[in-house]
Amino acid sequence: TTKQLLVSEKLAAVGEIAAGIAHEINNPMTVIQGNLDLIRSEIGPQAEDLKTEFRLIDEQVHSVFLIVNKLLQFTRPDEYAGEVESHHPDEVIEDSIPLVQHLLNKVDIDLYLRLNATRYLGINRTELQQVLINLIVNAIHAMPDGGDLLLRADDMDREGKPGVQIVVQDSGDGMEADVLARVFDPFFTTKQGEGTGLGLSISRKIVLRYGGHMYADSTPGTGTRFTIWLPQEGT
Ligand code: ADP
Repeated sequence: TTKQLLVSEKLAAVGEIAAGIAHEINNPMTVIQGNLDLIRSEIGPQAEDLKTEFRLIDEQVHSVFLIVNKLLQFTRPDEYAGEVESHHPDEVIEDSIPLVQHLLNKVDIDLYLRLNATRYLGINRTELQQVLINLIVNAIHAMPDGGDLLLRADDMDREGKPGVQIVVQDSGDGMEADVLARVFDPFFTTKQGEGTGLGLSISRKIVLRYGGHMYADSTPGTGTRFTIWLPQEGT
């Protein structure tokens, strides 16, 4: 509908503004850092007396750069130009697990792996891992008292095209229809003060950029299933 279109345009605009702000911050920060280095070399031996002060400024400058980079990465996922290589989806899924193991250990979650894909994907490994980790972390958040987490990968054709389907399914809180309808909107979060609401919108953008599909099913009180489909490498 027109209203939905307006809302999504508005959200896209928010992302654009955030990216714009990040660029605006980058420029003066570069000047600050450059002049800091200049002052340090100009004052020569005296710089030693101000060692602590210089270190503090350096650290803070560095942390502003980190924040800006994060913001840019989050708001511009369609422009990421990482290396695209041939990867086996089962392996990428398996290698994602150690990265979230500490979260799985905290609550009583049983992990089930059904990894049966044989086809390869032409993707950037880090990006697919980012998508998987977003989904797994969300699933863990939805199961504060524990539960089952299922990760599946299967060869699957879609509209006559060969590909791989990846499913991340939890037995957690689930979502009401009004929440489910908005999960892929940028900045939509129900985790007040703790969520950015960017994880799923970025994940979906990444999957779409590879010509894939991503959607969610959920039943309140029963759990949620996220399904990703990605085309086979070279198709
Ligand atoms: P964030 O996790 O920072 O809130 P996301 O974009 O990853 O941002 O998720 C948006 C919202 O979607 C979450 O705040 C939550 O309400 C809902 N959500 C995502 N995954 C699940 C899940 N597995 N179970 C229940 N709700 C979920």
